[in-house]
Amino acid sequence: MPIHCIAIWGTDLLRWKFPKNPWFGYHNGMDISLEPGTPLLAVADAKVIHKGSAGCLVGNFIWLHFEPAATELPIRIFARYQHLDEPSPIYIGDQVRAGDHIGFAGATGTTGGHFGTFGYSHLHLVLYTVPDAEVTPFRNNLKPRRLNYFDSMTLYVDKS
Ligand SMILES: [Zn+2]
Repeated sequence: MPIHCIAIWGTDLLRWKFPKNPWFGYHNGMDISLEPGTPLLAVADAKVIHKGSAGCLVGNFIWLHFEPAATELPIRIFARYQHLDEPSPIYIGDQVRAGDHIGFAGATGTTGGHFGTFGYSHLHLVLYTVPDAEVTPFRNNLKPRRLNYFDSMTLYVDKS
């Protein structure tokens, strides 16, 4: 059975195309395979700071901002949920509680381009930290670009 490479993450093959982005080509989050329509929940109390629909690799997305009090970590965390089946019904500026429904899993942004026809339904969850509270939505991302990737599993560390 042939093995299909659906993406080129982690390679230098296209880095020449984006010399100003040292992270280009790396997979920046965690993929969780989910049936289409599976409810997606806020992982902590948060404010919705951005949402929209983008193309290849992103699809429908929503950004949440977790204040330190919500995670009991001494840093601000920003999370982007990607590939939602439909645009999230939650509004920018809304406050959500841990466990609130924020959308449905889907496969938007996972077919075509690098993926070819091998896209599949999953949640791509990426988390960032940033020293300042001031962030600005920019396309499907946030500025400033000195956001640091954050291991999402850290949210589940038992602090007791
Ligand atoms: Zn992914």
